Amino acid sequence: MNYKEYITVVEDWPKQGVKFKDITTLMDNGAAYKTAVDEIVTYASEKNIDLVVGPEARGFIVGCPVAYALEIGFAPVRKEGKLPREVIKVNYGLEYGENVLTIHKDAIKPGQRVLITDDLLATGGTIEATIKLVEQLGGIVVGCAFLIELTYLDGREKLQGYDILTLMEY
Ligand code: 5GP
Repeated sequence: MNYKEYITVVEDWPKQGVKFKDITTLMDNGAAYKTAVDEIVTYASEKNIDLVVGPEARGFIVGCPVAYALEIGFAPVRKEGKLPREVIKVNYGLEYGENVLTIHKDAIKPGQRVLITDDLLATGGTIEATIKLVEQLGGIVVGCAFLIELTYLDGREKLQGYDILTLMEY
């Protein structure tokens, strides 16, 4: 499937000069969304995965249907202050300032094999932070799956040593 047909590129959003890749038009199309999820499920099913982990909010859109199809759990990674029980935290740099991501302390059991999902790999900062959370809890990151990769931002460089699947490149 040519997934790019279903992505809407929005010029100058959220700020001047950015060409935002809007995935809602892919989600809106049942066949396209299902085909994309199925491709990640096929990738994951060869890896003997115990748990899917994804950062808010679009990591849930990709990861939850994958977890459902594999009949395994999904653990959300969220911004600070959103999860109700004891969490661990990681700080990571944004273009301007810092962000904090958190995960429940009991979300992952040591030795569990984890697939990380998000909609888009840009600089890799979000996924690098998510990997740190998973590994701090003793999880083994066996793959990272994205719908979109912005290859010119070199996110893969931050993720050396990890197995990465992306369904389309810009
Ligand atoms: P990174 O941390 O790799 O630089 O940025 C990736 C994160 O930013 C992802 O969580 C993704 O949701 C968001 N993101 C950045 N640019 C875009 C974009 O053009 N489209 C979408 N859908 N998400 C983006």
